[in-house]
Amino acid sequence: MMATMPSHDVLIIGAGLAGQRAALAAADAGASVAIISKVHPVRSHSVAAAGGINAALGADDTWESHAFDTVKGSDYLGDQDAIEVMCREAPDEILHLEHVGVTFHRSPTGHLGTRAFGGASQARTYYVADITGQAILHVLYEQLMKHHATVDRFEEWFTTELLQDDAGACVGAVCRNIRDGRLEVFDAKSVILASGGAGQVYKPTTNALICTGDGIAQAYRVGAPLMDMEMIQYHPTTLAENGFLITEGARGEGAHLYNAKGERFMERYAPNKLELASRDVVSRAEQTEINEGRGFPDGTISLDITKVPRKRTLEALREIVNIGRDFAGVDITREPIKIRPGAHYIMGGVKTDVDGQTPIPGLYAAGEVACVSVHGGNRLGANSLLDTLIFGRRSGVHAAARAQQVAMPAAPASAVDATRARIDAILARPAGGRRVSEIKTELGETMNRYVAVFRDADGLGQAHEVVRRLKEEAETAHVDDRGTVFNQDVLGAIELGYMLEVAETIVVAAQERKESRGAQYRTDFPERNDGEWLKHIDVSRNGDETPHVSYSPVTITQWEPQERTY
Ligand SMILES: Cc1cc2nc3c(=O)[nH]c(=O)nc-3n(C[C@H](O)[C@H](O)[C@H](O)COP(=O)(O)OP(=O)(O)OC[C@H]3O[C@@H](n4cnc5c(N)ncnc54)[C@H](O)[C@@H]3O)c2cc1C
Repeated sequence: MMATMPSHDVLIIGAGLAGQRAALAAADAGASVAIISKVHPVRSHSVAAAGGINAALGADDTWESHAFDTVKGSDYLGDQDAIEVMCREAPDEILHLEHVGVTFHRSPTGHLGTRAFGGASQARTYYVADITGQAILHVLYEQLMKHHATVDRFEEWFTTELLQDDAGACVGAVCRNIRDGRLEVFDAKSVILASGGAGQVYKPTTNALICTGDGIAQAYRVGAPLMDMEMIQYHPTTLAENGFLITEGARGEGAHLYNAKGERFMERYAPNKLELASRDVVSRAEQTEINEGRGFPDGTISLDITKVPRKRTLEALREIVNIGRDFAGVDITREPIKIRPGAHYIMGGVKTDVDGQTPIPGLYAAGEVACVSVHGGNRLGANSLLDTLIFGRRSGVHAAARAQQVAMPAAPASAVDATRARIDAILARPAGGRRVSEIKTELGETMNRYVAVFRDADGLGQAHEVVRRLKEEAETAHVDDRGTVFNQDVLGAIELGYMLEVAETIVVAAQERKESRGAQYRTDFPERNDGEWLKHIDVSRNGDETPHVSYSPVTITQWEPQERTY
């Protein structure tokens, strides 16, 4: 399993669905591959994906219909060339998964069965009960093990930074073996960032503790532009106490939303699609009900899954039966459960083309860390798993082809010196500064207060001030564990730095976009303004560590922007 270290054609940072799919594609293309993950690969956050994955496979469905729904869902900010690629290639990807062993749900006739999902004009979400991510991740991991001769797995290794050569090309990364604290340089001809999202920038969040935006910050630090960072998705159905997700699959199966007066309020906001309007629309409707006093006193509204036949819930939604019982004390097959919108997904990320290439030669990105941009202002449910697989595969293929053209770099062993000095400095901090966890909590609560479903200039300004102060405080945040073995304390301090970097770019982009589109609803600019803002906001470092804003055009192929109603 562990072959030679540390030179490979393709180095993949992250072993969720995007990373594993990229590794398999690169290996199939003949490249030697290293795949690194800070947790065991099947604990990557893709394992939490519940509801399903979209593809236009049905006899009555077309990729154009899927693409239009995605464009509309994105509030016309998604790049239509990339959306076309994703939707065109989706059916083959689902069939490929099925052939390698993913046990997708089948209808009584034996055909692959679908469920409805938000913002879609057809039921085109393929699923494995409500453990779709887990099912796919485990099957891909089996395939990775089958490729042990060409894919070296580095499990529980933490990437601290990307390495560049004198010409600025990405030539590898510095990584720390979490088990013993050893630092290594990993040389590679091509590097693919597949390190997932940044949900922990918010509190609460549906995302796991490991989703700390590492790759987004690492790319930003070497000068790669980030795009659409203001677009943070609030999922309509999360538990108030802890942010746990109740999958959209519940509404797909027929669950209804009610306010505290018992009104099915979505009739007022999205008379055609009701609960299955796109997520930004449903979350905004819920938050409006809550803000205007029609929610429950604890700031929630209710999701009634008893509308779904009990037998079906027990079969197709069994994970949320468990979540309801264990974390809310509610039997969702017999009574409504209280929910509210919660931070869930980042549409923005490291800017790439449809082959995963960033503007930094040799550096690719795929999955939630990346912004292709197929989700634009708002991602449709079940389009993210698809994004990870399509663009993971395409990145793997392209990175492998590039590797055939360039010589193997060889960064000096001293490339780890700066990292070692930084880590030593963290370990040497005297007690007395704030704790990492305190800073992280203040960050998450600030973002959830000011950079959430509704935003305005005043709140964003306050958020920016807090983030800048926390960046300073993080410089002295002390850690208790000074050891080398599984020192999660020191990794937590490094991750905090990534999160603060990502948070600042989110806030700056949200301040910049003076209109309302998708997940960015500015109460001080409540209309979508295509004349001025039908463009991407790119954020990059301008040398002095402050985010620098520029714009790039939205690619429109066949769908001109229209008014968006559901
Ligand atoms: C609760 C939940 C349910 C969801 N359900 C669905 C759904 O039904 N359908 C859908 O389409 N989408 C869903 N999503 C979204 C989707 O699951 C994610 O966007 C997607 O799985 C992200 O995959 P990824 O491969 O990009 O990243 P991840 O799966 O998050 O993997 C990231 C990898 O990077 C590694 N990593 C990170 N930082 C470092 C570092 N510094 N060093 C080394 N390794 C590192 C991690 O260890 C991990 O292996 C859901 C999301 C959540 C939170």
